[in-house]
Amino acid sequence: MRKCISIDSVKCDTIMGALIFVKKIVNLLNPFAFLGIKRYSIIYSFVVSVIISILSEIYANWIVGDPMAVGTYIILVNVLTIIYFSFRDGIRGGLTAVAVSVAYYFYIIYTREYEGSRFVSGVETTVTLGVVYSIIAFVIGFLKQQVDNLIEREADQRRNLQAIIDQLPVGVVVADRNGKVTHANKFLETLLKKQVPIGYTIKNNAPLASDDHTHISEPLFQTITTGKPVKGKEISIHRPDGKLKHVLLSTSLVHNKKGKIIAAASILNDVTQQKEIESRKDDFVNMASHELKTPITSMKLYLESLTDKITKLNDQKATKILNSIKYQTKKLEELVTELLDITRIQTGKLLLSKEKFSLNDLISETVSEFQGSTPSHEIQFVNSYSTNIYADKFRIYQVLTNLLTNAIKYSPGHGKIKIGMQRNNTNVIVYVKDQGIGIRKEEYKKIFDRLYQVTSAVEKTFPGLGIGLFISKEIISKHNGSIWVESSVGKGSTFYFSLPLKKEK
Ligand code: ADP
Repeated sequence: MRKCISIDSVKCDTIMGALIFVKKIVNLLNPFAFLGIKRYSIIYSFVVSVIISILSEIYANWIVGDPMAVGTYIILVNVLTIIYFSFRDGIRGGLTAVAVSVAYYFYIIYTREYEGSRFVSGVETTVTLGVVYSIIAFVIGFLKQQVDNLIEREADQRRNLQAIIDQLPVGVVVADRNGKVTHANKFLETLLKKQVPIGYTIKNNAPLASDDHTHISEPLFQTITTGKPVKGKEISIHRPDGKLKHVLLSTSLVHNKKGKIIAAASILNDVTQQKEIESRKDDFVNMASHELKTPITSMKLYLESLTDKITKLNDQKATKILNSIKYQTKKLEELVTELLDITRIQTGKLLLSKEKFSLNDLISETVSEFQGSTPSHEIQFVNSYSTNIYADKFRIYQVLTNLLTNAIKYSPGHGKIKIGMQRNNTNVIVYVKDQGIGIRKEEYKKIFDRLYQVTSAVEKTFPGLGIGLFISKEIISKHNGSIWVESSVGKGSTFYFSLPLKKEK
């Protein structure tokens, strides 16, 4: 016998499926179900069978007025009764009905005063019927036992699975391939502060537990319908108690042995605490950066007045030291600006101040500025096209600076750096190509993430915070452009960014 799969719609052998169906009907027809099946199984079967015999007697003697009118109908009624009780109460219930029926037949033989061959044939028929009835009771009782075992096993599997998922420290909700919710664990209900209705069928855009949980049911629905799992989707849950929960939601598919999708599960990881810590860290960085800005501004003012004095002194050594201090102060200022930009991005406050300007001029100026301060590297501006764009000039300069700084930093010692432009009808593409250490393909996307740095032995030796490319990506995407990299480890990298040529609204 094939096992049923509890999270799939019950799929057993056809006969078993039919028997389970019959059992459901029998249970529905059971007026004493509330008394409990086991305790009353024989009594109920006995009482009903006796009542049937009495009714049959009333029918023959008083309604029809002929005691011999007890005919084939009683056999039919008894067979149905035996089938019913065998199915309801098992072999014991069926045999009780058989015993009462056979006793009733002997009662008929006795009260109708059968004699001679009639008596013999009456006894023979009764015994034969008794045997046939017993076989029916045994067969159906046995099948009922199998169905019960199967249902019990199913229930056991469900209970075990439920017990396991209830122990998980993440929210879990499982739906079958029709979108019917089959399991949800305690953690999920605590997380949502709502009960998840088992048996409820989720549909597109239909909420799972209340109006505000559409975003939980939707990915699950999408996964079932498209067969594509969702990975780590960040969602916020506004709970009925007013609390806001941050959750990472992932979905996965459950296949049967034939590879057919039978269910999908959503796993909800509560990341509220991490989010709060992160937000406190961001607040701290933001505050510290603001606090640093004031002394840096003062330092710059003092440096300016010192420059005048040292220029007058014409002291070579002092001038060199002063230039170094100026350079380091500039670096410090850039770092503080980057840290503040991170907070601006996080809070959606990175605003653009767009103007029309010549991109090729901006690139030329930036290259000259870099070439002046980096004698170790040769920076060439190739493929220059006269191109006016409508963008935030300072922010685009920031991107160019970041890409050139990285190109220099990750090409230790020396090397040629090429910066160039490409154009088509709709976009201009700027690229920065170095001959440095290169980047592995699996890092291509990650390096644009916040605070991400490649951590292999070579990259570890370079200083940095892993925020430059994150800010560049945000700036470019705010201009409706894109930024990407192509690289070959040990040979160098080329970073590209594209910007639309048409003035965006
Ligand atoms: P940072 O350079 O401060 O670490 P970025 O966000 O600018 O941060 O860069 C992220 C990571 O990408 C770097 O840590 C580095 O591993 C890699 N990377 C960036 N530019 C280059 C480059 N031109 N060549 C090789 N690796 C690079």
